[in-house]
Amino acid sequence: MKVYNTLSGRKEEFVPIEEGKVKMYVCGPTVYNLIHIGNARPMIVFDTVRRYMEHKGLEVNYVSNFTDVDDKIIKAAIEEGVDSSVISERYIEECKKDMAAMNVKPATTHPKATEEIDGMIAMIETLIEKGHAYKAADGTVYFRTRSFKPYGKLSHKNIDDLEGGHRAEAHALLVTGEDQKEDPLDFVLWKPKKDGEPYWVSPWCEGRPGWHIECSVMSKKYLGDSIDIHAGGEDLVFPHHENEIAQSEAANGQEFSKYWMHNAFLNIDGRKMSKSLGNFKTVRGISEHYDLQVLRFFMLSAHYRSQLNFSADLMEAAKNSLDRIITAVDNLKFLVSNAKEEGLLAGEDAVISEAKAFVTKFDEAMDDDFNTADAISTIFELVKFANTKLSGENSKACLKAVLDEIIELSDILGLIVNKEEEMLDADIEALIEERQQARKDKNFARADEIRDELLAKGIVLKDTREGVKWSRS
Ligand code: AMP
Ligand code: ZN
Repeated sequence: MKVYNTLSGRKEEFVPIEEGKVKMYVCGPTVYNLIHIGNARPMIVFDTVRRYMEHKGLEVNYVSNFTDVDDKIIKAAIEEGVDSSVISERYIEECKKDMAAMNVKPATTHPKATEEIDGMIAMIETLIEKGHAYKAADGTVYFRTRSFKPYGKLSHKNIDDLEGGHRAEAHALLVTGEDQKEDPLDFVLWKPKKDGEPYWVSPWCEGRPGWHIECSVMSKKYLGDSIDIHAGGEDLVFPHHENEIAQSEAANGQEFSKYWMHNAFLNIDGRKMSKSLGNFKTVRGISEHYDLQVLRFFMLSAHYRSQLNFSADLMEAAKNSLDRIITAVDNLKFLVSNAKEEGLLAGEDAVISEAKAFVTKFDEAMDDDFNTADAISTIFELVKFANTKLSGENSKACLKAVLDEIIELSDILGLIVNKEEEMLDADIEALIEERQQARKDKNFARADEIRDELLAKGIVLKDTREGVKWSRS
């Protein structure tokens, strides 16, 4: 399995630190609003990475945080006149609902920044002790960026170029009198509270953590000092992930993460979808028009490192494509329930091995840095194969093997294509009534049709002395 590692700038063979196990951390959303579909891209992409690794037999410990202390959350709380925890708790719940509807598995652990403050204080203390951080006069603690020699290794930036870029900013700070940093490149680990803001007591001042420190601490606590994969959107490469590396490696003295994975942007009209630009569509809004499986399909129809432009036409196309798979599955289910022969017929071995070749092709696409676009194309080839090569003449075993394969490959991508349409009891009973009547009228064709229709939906009928009994298979 090859993974593109932002750190090396190339695809590398994936070798976990501990055999058979994967420790994976994905930066989660800041919860002050409903998530937009740009935020949904890393959720869907890295959930798919996780599912594929699990399919390969790896045990994935998947940690994804909620950033629940932040200027934007505080602003929203002030506007509503509530505590900021009211805002964050509300949107964590809403986010979890959206994730479930997109068939994104819950993380092994979903830590919240506000519940990990002690760990953050401890790591900042270690950084100060080791000479990597310092306290300024007003109680702000900064990371001493130049003390971490490899700074810039993830974003492939040269520290002296960065210094140049910061000169204008440094000048602005001097003018506002806020220039208490030793170096313009230094970044905040802890900052003093402002009136009305949530705060915690620390050795430096009553205040709150900077943004970057939370991920270093939560990753260490739930996964250990060295992890396999750290992931997020590409806007996080610099400065967020670069700063996380500096904090974690300076504090722990070990490589923080072996592989760094970043998804490209979801754009709209050629620009990054973001809350600040106001050009966003919420996942909730999309769910009013589409089953969110369609959104998931749309996201996976492009490789995760390619930019993806959102448009109404592409969503329609995604819907139609997904429907094609679902229809094929429904047809196969119907054929399975009507098949005359149970066991494999002569010549069907060849059909099954031909179908198996698609699994190999699917795995090859996914092994190549999770090429979901090609993996989906392979599912379509398999669907086409099923539509053209299989019929009511095939045995149940053969039909079922191909059916299961389509469902399984889709499931690895988190796409639910086996819609068990739950029939209401009343509808079932009405059909049974109709079947009884048809039998009385000697319309056996209709009676059989009804029995088959029910069977396709997993309802088994049994004629007994007391009348017709039914059960869900
Ligand atoms: P935020 O809530 O802004 O911290 O973002 C949460 C996650 O969503 C991060 O991994 C971001 O990189 C990612 N993200 C935000 N906007 C987009 C976008 N338009 N396309 C892809 N990923 C995004
Ligand atoms: Zn993070």
